[in-house]
Amino acid sequence: MRIPVLCLLFAAGILAQDVSSLRIIAFGAHPDDCDIRAGGTAAKWAARGAKVKFVSVTNGDAGHQSEGGGALARRRRAEAIEAGRRIGVEYEVLDNHDGELLPTLEVRNQVIRRIRQWNADIVLAPRPNDYHPDHRYTGVVVQDAAYMVVVPNVTPDTPPLRKNPVFFYFADRFQRPNAFRADVVISIDDVIEKKLAMLDAHVSQFYEWLPWVDGELNQVPKDTAARKEWLRKQRFFSVDSAWKPALAKWYGSRADSVRHAEAFELCEYGRRPQEEEIRKMFPF
Ligand SMILES: [Zn+2]
Repeated sequence: MRIPVLCLLFAAGILAQDVSSLRIIAFGAHPDDCDIRAGGTAAKWAARGAKVKFVSVTNGDAGHQSEGGGALARRRRAEAIEAGRRIGVEYEVLDNHDGELLPTLEVRNQVIRRIRQWNADIVLAPRPNDYHPDHRYTGVVVQDAAYMVVVPNVTPDTPPLRKNPVFFYFADRFQRPNAFRADVVISIDDVIEKKLAMLDAHVSQFYEWLPWVDGELNQVPKDTAARKEWLRKQRFFSVDSAWKPALAKWYGSRADSVRHAEAFELCEYGRRPQEEEIRKMFPF
C-alpha cells in the first residue's frame, strides 16, 4: 500500500503549520526589551516566513553610565537594527526620551499608527506591572491602543484595521497586583544561538550598562568571543518554574527536556481567539 507523500512530509515535520502570512509587531520600552522577551520566538516565526517587527518606544538615550543624549541614541538605534538583522526581523526605534516615557495621547497614537501600518495579526507588549516606568507606560499605551486601532476617526491619517489583532503580554516576574499567567510557552532551545547573537548586538546594553548597574562591569571579558560566552550564562534564557504547567500542555512528555523558553499571556483586550487558533499562531 502506498502512503501519500504529503502524510510522510507531515510526519517528518517538513510541512509544518504555515505561518508565512502572519504579521507580528512587538513593542518594548528600550532597544533590547523585545529581544530579551521574545527574540527566540521571533526568530522561529521569521524562519518560517512570518513578518516580524520590533519597536522600541524610547530611543535609549539615558541608560548608560558614561554616554548619553543623541550620540547614545544613534548607537542604540544601530545596535537594534543589527540585532534585528541577525534574526530576520525589522527593528524601529521611536525618538522618545529614555527614562521619561509617559502614557500620553501622542505616544498612544505613535503606537496605533505602527500597529496599523504593520497590519498586525499579533501584538506583543509588556504588562503594565513593572518596576521601570518606561516598561509600565509602554504596557499602558499598547493596552490603550488595543481597541483604538479599529476606530477610523482616531489617527485618520492611517487607515484603521478591519480586524482587531490578538494581543499578548511578555513574561515578567512581578506579583502585584497580579502575577503573569503563562498561556503560551515556547521552547527556544533550537534557536538559542540566534537569540544569543541578537542580544550580542546590543553591546552598549549587555556588556556595558546592565553589568555596570549590577556592579559586575569588571567581570565582562574584553574579548568579543569570550564576552558572548559570558552573556550565554546570564539569566535571559531560562525556564521559569511557574511556566511548567503550560510547558507540559504545549510539549507533553518533551516538556521536561526544554531548557530555554519564552512565555506569553493572552491579553483580555483585542481579539480573543480559541486555543486551536492560538496553537496555529505558535506552531512550535
Ligand atoms: Zn527596558
